[in-house]
Amino acid sequence: MSPDPRSLAERISAETGLEFSGREGRDSDGTRWLELQPVGYPSGQTFTLRTLVGWRRLDVHFRPGNFAGDLMSAMGSADETGRRTFRAVLDVCRDADAEIVLNINGTAYLPDDSAIWETEWRSFGLGVRRGMLAINDGNPEEDMRQIELWTSRVAAAILALLPVEIEDDDGAEVSPEITGLPEGARTRVEVNRYERDRRNRAAALAIHGYSCKACKLDMGDRYGPTAAGLIEVHHVTPVSQLGEDYIVDPRTDLTPLCPNCHSVAHRRSPPYSIDDLREMLASVHEND
Ligand SMILES: [Zn+2]
Ligand SMILES: [Zn+2]
Repeated sequence: MSPDPRSLAERISAETGLEFSGREGRDSDGTRWLELQPVGYPSGQTFTLRTLVGWRRLDVHFRPGNFAGDLMSAMGSADETGRRTFRAVLDVCRDADAEIVLNINGTAYLPDDSAIWETEWRSFGLGVRRGMLAINDGNPEEDMRQIELWTSRVAAAILALLPVEIEDDDGAEVSPEITGLPEGARTRVEVNRYERDRRNRAAALAIHGYSCKACKLDMGDRYGPTAAGLIEVHHVTPVSQLGEDYIVDPRTDLTPLCPNCHSVAHRRSPPYSIDDLREMLASVHEND
């Protein structure tokens, strides 16, 4: 199977909570690209994420529509969580040897330049390019993995700046009750607002990947495409220890957990740590 735009769109939609459609094409020089666009907006007013699949390199570009002025200006006035998340994700890209091209109102900036927030954004472009990759090398699965990884990073950086609403306490993102337990033992995964903020979720997954940090399970590997991208994001620091204005760092504060491990972590308050979970798993296997 060659990397296909539909499965890429599904993955990024699952990660960001924004629905994307995918298409593909080729540049005039024959370089293949995959392109994602949010569903339900006029093309001119929204944006595309295009991933060029070159020889041993990937190039992911954010492109606003021609009439996306309002969107640009909203992105430039993102809140502090959005700004820091944007930077955290791009820092991770840079640390992974990517070249980052950030352009605001026609001027090139470094992502950590605070001057970018001091101006009204009329135009904004972002490109993340990673060379020296084992891609287009005859291994379509590895190609897809790299395409998903780099596209999801740029998507997470962009999502951080988009105006998004956070689900309230009864929001749909709270995991449903765990079934199969005696009535009195039923429990509920109490996710907190940091885990519900989809910007945090997208950034955490773009940074940490989709495997459970406790048991290493990748739901897509176990169940196939239906479960691809099905992973939960857990906040490792007990929320009670944080102030009201605390801003999450997706690199250190958030971690992906499979639904099982996440439920077990929240069997206690404050939750069990990732190390606790690993010990539980190891001690059970010792007795096998
Ligand atoms: Zn797990
Ligand atoms: Zn949690």
